[in-house]
Amino acid sequence: MNHPQTACLNADLHCHSVISDGTLEPEALAARAHANGVQLWSLTDHDEIAGQRRARDAAHALGLPYLTGVEISVTFAGTTVHIVGLGFDPDNAALAAGLVATRGGRRGRAMEMSEGLAKAGIHGAYEGALRYVGNPELISRMHFARYLIDSKVCGDAQEVFRKYLTAGKPGYVEHRWSALRDAVTWIVEAGGIAVIAHPARYKFSPSAEYALFSEFIAYGGRGVEVVTGSHSAAEAVRYADTALEFSLLGSRGSDFHSPTESHADLGSLPPLPAKLTPVWTALEDRVLLPA
Ligand code: AMP
Ligand code: MN
Ligand code: MN
Ligand code: MN
Repeated sequence: MNHPQTACLNADLHCHSVISDGTLEPEALAARAHANGVQLWSLTDHDEIAGQRRARDAAHALGLPYLTGVEISVTFAGTTVHIVGLGFDPDNAALAAGLVATRGGRRGRAMEMSEGLAKAGIHGAYEGALRYVGNPELISRMHFARYLIDSKVCGDAQEVFRKYLTAGKPGYVEHRWSALRDAVTWIVEAGGIAVIAHPARYKFSPSAEYALFSEFIAYGGRGVEVVTGSHSAAEAVRYADTALEFSLLGSRGSDFHSPTESHADLGSLPPLPAKLTPVWTALEDRVLLPA
């Protein structure tokens, strides 16, 4: 493969397929990653690894090295935090059971979200959102957003989230995801590396953020996303310093969901800052190479 140890490798280690809240099939994502020059790829669906085999096979058919991936929803200090797992054994039973448990509350939560929206005059949102769902176990706020946009309630996803799907708004439901300790442990015990996804998104106080990073490391977490479609250039600079401060490996991923909705396309991000150790240098023996 193309020297995975180099910081300038075009690694894209975060994206979503129809198996969670993306709009493309794993094969179409692999083709897009390859066409965009990605040299090491991972599909990281929310709370679900059912797409891993398809993603790997499609990547390998294109000669593209692959890392197993997932993005686990966690509740930490009352906030939803996402933990990306990379390079784990996809057949690990404890990880699979943990993901089943994490997915478990989504249907009931979606029905409650729909009730909240109905009180605000938007009826039938659960059934509407279901039309956009590829995996019945993985109904997400993003599917509600697509329904509300297509039914002209809102113009874009930012407006949907701002008006309806965030704390205090009619379609928002408090939800308890997995514990940070559990998510990191599932990933680590399955032989993978745990990475804090898009840290700038959480808007933690400095002390809560310090607690997140310290606890994450205490549980065995080793990486942080620095260059991601969810970060501005200034946020990437800031979290590169955080990675150094906590001796964490740096990760890079577009968080691509859809050709029409995403900030960043697969493989399109700037490189990781050269002062960081890329997470893929620690995953060399976990990279699945094409035959
Ligand atoms: P859920 O896991 O059901 O809470 O849905 C979270 C998903 O919604 C994220 O993974 C994003 O895909 C999407 N999302 C969250 N916040 C926003 C936002 N402000 N604008 C657009 N998409 C968002
Ligand atoms: Mn998503
Ligand atoms: Mn995320
Ligand atoms: Mn994501």
